[in-house]
Parts: sequence; C-alpha cells; structure tokens
Amino acid sequence: MFRQRTIKSPVHAIGIGVHSGAKVRMGLRPAKAGSGIQFVRTDLDGANSVRACAESVSDTALSTTISQGPINVATVEHLMSALWGLGVDNLFIELSAEEVPIMDGSAAPFIDMINSVGIVDLDEAKQFIRINREICVNQGEATASLKPYAGFKAGYTFVADHKVFNRYPKYAELDFGTTSYEASVSGARSFGLLKELPHAQAINKCLGSSLENAVGIDDDSVVNEGGLRYHDEFVKHKLLDVIGDLYLLGRPIMGAFEGYMSGHALNNKLARALLRCDDAWDVVSYELDDQSKPQEIMVKRAAAAE
Ligand SMILES: [Zn+2]
Repeated sequence: MFRQRTIKSPVHAIGIGVHSGAKVRMGLRPAKAGSGIQFVRTDLDGANSVRACAESVSDTALSTTISQGPINVATVEHLMSALWGLGVDNLFIELSAEEVPIMDGSAAPFIDMINSVGIVDLDEAKQFIRINREICVNQGEATASLKPYAGFKAGYTFVADHKVFNRYPKYAELDFGTTSYEASVSGARSFGLLKELPHAQAINKCLGSSLENAVGIDDDSVVNEGGLRYHDEFVKHKLLDVIGDLYLLGRPIMGAFEGYMSGHALNNKLARALLRCDDAWDVVSYELDDQSKPQEIMVKRAAAAE
C-alpha cells in the first residue's frame, strides 16, 4: 500500500512572523498515522492545539489563520504547502508564538528543514481526496474550481495591471505528475508593492516584512538584489499558496484546480464548498509499493493506479 508519512526526528527553526513581527521558535515533531497535522502553541497553558483543517480557518486577510476557540495560528499556508510537497500527512508543529515563521517568504526553507531529518513511512494507507465532479466558487470576478483529473494539476491566472507585473507571466499551469514541486514551486516568495506596505502596517499587518522574506516591487522594478528566482515567481507563489490552503482539507487532492484572481479567502471558500458537497469527492487509497518518491511522482503513480 501507499503509506502515510511523518518526519524521522524532531527539527527546529527560529524566525519571525511576517505580520506580527514577533520572534517565534518552531519545532516539528513526528506524529503517528491518522494524527493529521496539528499546531501546538507552546506559549499557552491548557488546551493549546489547533488541527490543520479547512473549517478551522478564521481569517484570510493577507494570510491564512486557523483557530480553535481562542487559540490562533497565523500564516500557516507556506508550511502547509511544503508539507503537501513532501507528502507529510502527520506532524506536530510547536510554536512559541501565534504565527508560523515566514523564513524567506517561500516554502523552500521548510522543505530543507524536513529533508535535513528525513521522512519516514507509517503503517497506514495514505488517503487522497478524489474529485468526482466540478465544484466552482466565486467572489466578484475571482473564481476557483476543482474538477476531476487523474493526478493533481493546478492552473492560476494572476491579475494585476502594473508595469512590473506586466513584464512577467500571469498564467501558470503545473501538472505535478511531471513537475517537481520542490524545484519549480517551493522557492517562489511572497511579494508586494513597496508603496502598499505603510497601509498594511497601519492595520498591524506585514510588521515583520522585509526584502529578506518578500519580493519588493517599486514603480519600475523588483528591488531585491538578485531579482526573481523564477521568471514566473509571482504566479508560482500564488500556486504555492493555493496548494497550502487546499492542504488544510487534511488530505491531498486528486483533481485539477483552476484559479482566476483567487486568494486565501476564495481558496478556503472552495475547500469548504467541497466539504459540503460530499457527492463531489471520495476518499481513496492506492496499492503502490514504491515509497521513495517525491510528491509529484507519487501523484502520477497514484493516478496511474486508478
Ligand atoms: Zn503566500
């Protein structure tokens, strides 16, 4: 059978929350099969955990926050995206503050952290959400949909009429049966217009934002030394976010995502719509022997087994 995974041993990192600006220590710990992804706030006494779950999403302004009662965990999407990329199903994520560290603004540092300790296969079958019919949500002009597909692919259209954005691709479609998440997506950083930063900071967002953890854009150009990591880094980051937001469903999707201008709010609306329509999906597992593959190969093989 194709098995669930966790990490081999604990690993730690220290960083800052991009919105709070607060220093945070993060520890990743192995978890047994069936535990799912759970965040644990080590700075709080008593009940202090929040399960990664689409229905726990409580705020989607500029990042995705999940909550269990009064316990909040902010900016979970890049870490969730990395966990999808590595096929990690079960994990405890300990945090000494409210926000997941932003690291360099992409998912790559989380991938490196986990690869430094390795991944271990568990004794239960990995479960996937297989999409059986189209689900579509919208919000004004923005749309997001999931359709049946043997494997997992994601397309995204980024809409922004700006001199800098107009120089780069605004559409990307990646089929993870043939594309490496780690190589092609994980390094795509968050980005923002420098002139919008004071507005965000006025509402206590982006207090930890810097060129160390985001691509900054002025009226004419990308201001980071070294420029972009990928020619289509902006749209790739949008896909990275989609993958992280949808992995809050608790299991990877077998299907095709298509997004037009969608952000964290619409991604979550799509996940919740899917959960409500239980005729639109089912949970499947696969009989596959080869465990030694990254997510995209796994998806390809899982699709081939259907
Ligand atoms: Zn993001």
